[in-house]
Amino acid sequence: MFVGHFAVGLAAKRVAPAISLGTLVLAAMLADILWCLFLIAGIEHVEFRPAMGAANYFVASEIGWSHSLLMDAAWGALLAAAYLLRRRSPRGAWVLFAAVVSHWLLDWIAHRPDMPLSPAAHTRFGLGLWGSIPATLAVEGGFWVLALIVYARAFRPKGRTGIFAFWIGAALLTLAWYGNISGPPPRDAHSAPYVSLTFFSLAVAWAYWMNRHRPASGR
Ligand SMILES: [Zn+2]
Repeated sequence: MFVGHFAVGLAAKRVAPAISLGTLVLAAMLADILWCLFLIAGIEHVEFRPAMGAANYFVASEIGWSHSLLMDAAWGALLAAAYLLRRRSPRGAWVLFAAVVSHWLLDWIAHRPDMPLSPAAHTRFGLGLWGSIPATLAVEGGFWVLALIVYARAFRPKGRTGIFAFWIGAALLTLAWYGNISGPPPRDAHSAPYVSLTFFSLAVAWAYWMNRHRPASGR
């Protein structure tokens, strides 16, 4: 998924308002950020073919270190432990762990079967939601819109930045997502992980920024 992971970050902010939205989005997107780093390092591999939509243009994916259930639980435990050491909040640590592991669940729904349970496992899982654009718009899009509404009602903008930068950011994410589910593969497979890593980093930075401009409404 794509905006579905951001929806988890927004919804989790309702559950754990003390955690920055940036940290929650980082947790929900951690598997994809690691995926970019592992592709760059040559630990993981993907191959593209000329077709429209990510469900069709990925032909071979070796993504077990970033996207297996076992490793996502391990990355989640690491992030949760780091948070626990710094902030001494077990509840916050559990929310971050759940946000990291939710990535596997959402990608299992969206991906064609390429999601393993562990890096060494050969069986792959995936329901393939992204194979249907209308179904993706309904399920992932519906979740995204719902999370935006829930978040925007609970965390009111302090000023114009909190309004415009938030909704422009949300619109850009929506456009990038639509390009992913319906558009062509990256033109250059070599630079693709660098481009994605930059995009994800900017999205996490945006979430940290929005956290400061949309404090809890106190209701
Ligand atoms: Zn992913």
